[in-house]
Amino acid sequence: MSRAHVSFSDLRTAAYCPRKCYYQRTRDDVDREPPDRVESVRALSTRYAELLESPAGALEGEPIAVPPVSYRERLAATRERLAAREQWDRLCEPDERDVLATGRHCRGIVHKVLADPLEPVLVSSGEPPSDGVWEPQSVHAVAAAKALAWEHQQSVDRAWLEYPAYGVIRSIDLTTRRKARYRRALRTVWDLDGPPARTTNRSKCESCEFAAQCGVRTRTLRSLLPGFGSG
Ligand code: SF4
Repeated sequence: MSRAHVSFSDLRTAAYCPRKCYYQRTRDDVDREPPDRVESVRALSTRYAELLESPAGALEGEPIAVPPVSYRERLAATRERLAAREQWDRLCEPDERDVLATGRHCRGIVHKVLADPLEPVLVSSGEPPSDGVWEPQSVHAVAAAKALAWEHQQSVDRAWLEYPAYGVIRSIDLTTRRKARYRRALRTVWDLDGPPARTTNRSKCESCEFAAQCGVRTRTLRSLLPGFGSG
């Protein structure tokens, strides 16, 4: 494929499974708009002060992924930790929101842009890993940092990932290793001219919407096929 700008979402998917990225780019019936639930979870990241003050009963109706009391405790702990590092206020009051950033090689929406120092924040609607951030999100964060750095002609050394449904916020340093993984994902997308090999980590296939087309037998597919029951 041509060396045009690559979208953040393609980079993220290529880091997850290059073959999945190939399917996404070559099928026109793939819905690339985020579903409503994703938007409502992301909106939580603009309302932390209000959520911290909300009674548990009011939190019941919010798209949070843990029980209300635990949610408030987690979010309060996050605020305390980040306020001690003088980061909480800037994360709650970013310089800009939902900015389309275009770098030298990639482009996409940066959910929050922090100034002094310039840093991107990506807001995930999913669950954080037990430690750090998921690999595709790390690639996405490096892409966002590179795009902002290119636009502002300044270096960016850190990026943030928020998991508002869980009350968790994490930062990552843009290490040489993370940047190398970003470049690998970029090359993967540029070089996609046929379906690449399947991922060797088959647990990823369980939630992949292309499993049937890909020919991978997931637990879900097996349960639908005669002769592949649980016994
Ligand atoms: S089913 Fe598995 S190997 Fe196939 S595209 Fe999806 S994640 Fe990749």
